[in-house]
Amino acid sequence: MDRILSKSILSSLKEDPWFGTKYSMNIYRGCQHACIYCDSRSSCYQLGELSHIRVKENALELLNKELRSKRVRGTIGTGSMNDPYMPVERKERIIREALKTIAHHKFPVHIITKSDLVLRDMDVIKEISRIYAAVSITITTADDKLSKIIEPVSPASSFRFNAISTLSANGIYTGITLMPLLPFINDTVKELKLLLEKAIDAKPGYIMPAFALTLREGSREYYYKMLDKHFPGMKERYIREFGNSHNCVSPNAKALYETFYKITKAAGIPYRMRHYQPEETEQLSLF
Ligand code: SF4
Repeated sequence: MDRILSKSILSSLKEDPWFGTKYSMNIYRGCQHACIYCDSRSSCYQLGELSHIRVKENALELLNKELRSKRVRGTIGTGSMNDPYMPVERKERIIREALKTIAHHKFPVHIITKSDLVLRDMDVIKEISRIYAAVSITITTADDKLSKIIEPVSPASSFRFNAISTLSANGIYTGITLMPLLPFINDTVKELKLLLEKAIDAKPGYIMPAFALTLREGSREYYYKMLDKHFPGMKERYIREFGNSHNCVSPNAKALYETFYKITKAAGIPYRMRHYQPEETEQLSLF
């Protein structure tokens, strides 16, 4: 792992209609979780080798400074380009310190992760919840064996279901990002029903689905290499079905969405998350 100095830590976004984030925070560059389908490998992001982890050494100092100068209180999202709770965070504890800084400045936060290490920081997340905090745990299959193939370094799915249960039971707004679903691998109605059964038991506040996979230059080559390794013959099927398409929608998408909406509606679980709502007149003091 390398330590680097960064010029900034928060990038402003157009408010995301799904995740409700206004600022994006990445303390690390690269990701240890090594998911075979990871979009962060795409050449357009110029991240280099995904497993090469760089930590922004001045992250906390920058975060403190940037939050002090923000005039609009918007949700800080973390977890889009890498997993904030990848194994290195267990020792580094920088995300934990960043959350304390966010709590101090009273900003809302949305954490996306595949790791139950997030439970370590429940105390700080609870504190941020006074303003707004959401934790989205990504789960793509109910099958632990399959999750260890497609997301080899992330805790297996059963640990993630347990994390959702614990966070929800502790009053933290927690949901599931059910994405991506990999065509011909984990996209059957039968598997979706199994996943939803376990998900509902964990009492999430929302489940956001996307029954498709994004493949671009850089991520496609790696994904195909892993298909050859773990699912012989599958790469050829993808090439026939999707060619060079960026958005690879499951051929079962219609049936999957119908099943998803029917089951989640019956369970009273929304398919979109509630976002932070600022007070209309809210403006932060610069001093
Ligand atoms: S956790 Fe997210 S960022 Fe990390 S490898 Fe998996 S998909 Fe990529």
